[in-house]
Amino acid sequence: MQGQLYIDGQFAKGGAAPFAVYNPYNLSQIGTQQAAAEDDVKRAINVAEQAFKALKTTTAFARADALETLYQAMIQAESILAETMTIEQGKPLKEAIGEVRYAASYVKWYAQEAGRVQGDILASNHPKSRLHVYREPVGPVALITPWNFPLAMFVRKLAPAFAAGCSVIVKPASQTPFSAVKFFELINQIPLLKASCQLLSGDAKVIGELLIDDMRIRKLSFTGSSAVGVKLAAKSAATLKRVSLELGGHAPLIVFADANLDKAVKGTIISKFRNCGQACIASNRIYVHHKIKADFVAKLKAAVAAIKAGNGLDNVDIGPIIDEAAYGKLALQVDDALAKGASLLAGGQGYRTLSGSGGYIYPATVLDDVDENMQVATEETFGPILPLLTFNDDDEVIKRANATPYGLAAYAYTENLSRATYAIENLEYGMVGINTGVLGTAQAPFGGVKMSGYGREGGKYGIDEYLQIKYANIGI
Ligand code: NAP
Repeated sequence: MQGQLYIDGQFAKGGAAPFAVYNPYNLSQIGTQQAAAEDDVKRAINVAEQAFKALKTTTAFARADALETLYQAMIQAESILAETMTIEQGKPLKEAIGEVRYAASYVKWYAQEAGRVQGDILASNHPKSRLHVYREPVGPVALITPWNFPLAMFVRKLAPAFAAGCSVIVKPASQTPFSAVKFFELINQIPLLKASCQLLSGDAKVIGELLIDDMRIRKLSFTGSSAVGVKLAAKSAATLKRVSLELGGHAPLIVFADANLDKAVKGTIISKFRNCGQACIASNRIYVHHKIKADFVAKLKAAVAAIKAGNGLDNVDIGPIIDEAAYGKLALQVDDALAKGASLLAGGQGYRTLSGSGGYIYPATVLDDVDENMQVATEETFGPILPLLTFNDDDEVIKRANATPYGLAAYAYTENLSRATYAIENLEYGMVGINTGVLGTAQAPFGGVKMSGYGREGGKYGIDEYLQIKYANIGI
């Protein structure tokens, strides 16, 4: 595939050297992607400024219609979008199809939400004045997103931004630009979106700096690592840009003594191994009450034994690790845990797909006897390694679950309503799953606290990120 940029309503070559894109399963080159030079970025910003002015003359209902058309186009193009994603990111095709549908569900939701943006009329303290509150789009926005969910991460931003009336510039991850290019082939067919949305790829630092330093870009929405998020937030301060940050996580999953163990195992498997564990909300520490530990582990081992790893295009449950560095981190975390006293219950030995070369597979791995002195219990893992920790009482486990700088997602399994409520109210996380390993859905607010960022995506909350308040006192 030859991927291009999308600037000013058309696909375009970039002024910087194109870069190669590889299939992480076998490391074969699957194509090249055009890269933006400074001039391309500046041109895109100029276009975004004009596009924002033009969008101001459109109604919310016209934008809703464009999003509805996009939704239909995404569903029709589901197979090609999903295959592209699997080839460049590695996830199993069934998960890629799930991601296309998930991304499309945000487009549908914000098609419906566009017409619900409302202002207020306030009681006046003077008979000759009227106090009106407007909710207006913030302006042109920049969206920077990672490789793990190559489509959903930017669509979840683009849909509410456009619904609110903002023009957008998308910068996807360099490892997975083609899902975005395929998506922009759909955008290219829909006049209002075509005029308002642009795609830049290439050197993240160059593109990021130009977008962030420019006063005309009024909002940055970033999904990625906490380290980069912190830097971009600091940089955005110079232009007092609005910023939303969806960053890293280190989710605890607590299995209380009264949990339904079948549900708990199912939720553990989904939350840990979906996307090969390469998810910000992946469960990263599994705390199991000592009383039910043996039963839970027996069921868990049986479920993990059924997880098949391999090429995402085949019928597998987990695909490859994105690259060598990510693979190396997993190997280090496992070695560190074993050296400090953990024991291996499953997996634990990664390999290259083409004996000695090719991409990297890490099988579903379970470590028992893990404690908080081990890296796997403190660093974001981003892979299919499941560490088991044991606890004795509720207060203790909540305290341990909160002992991390991250605060994105947490999960708890219990059949007791009071205990579930206690967990929800005391877990310092932006999202809590009770008796479920699934959190993201278009109508709900997705996002974290602490070093996992701020801002929310989804639901009525997600569109607020792209709106600002104006107040008018009208003398009559
Ligand atoms: P990353 O290194 O922070 O990269 C994310 C995006 O930022 C990519 O598009 C990258 O471009 C770009 N980027 C990197 N350095 C930049 C800079 N100096 N200026 C501007 N842009 C820059 O993150 P990652 O390792 O790809 O993604 C994994 C992380 O994302 C994990 O920590 C995960 O938890 C987090 N994540 C969070 C959520 C959430 O909703 N909270 C969802 C998914 C993932 P290049 O690809 O071109 O380098």
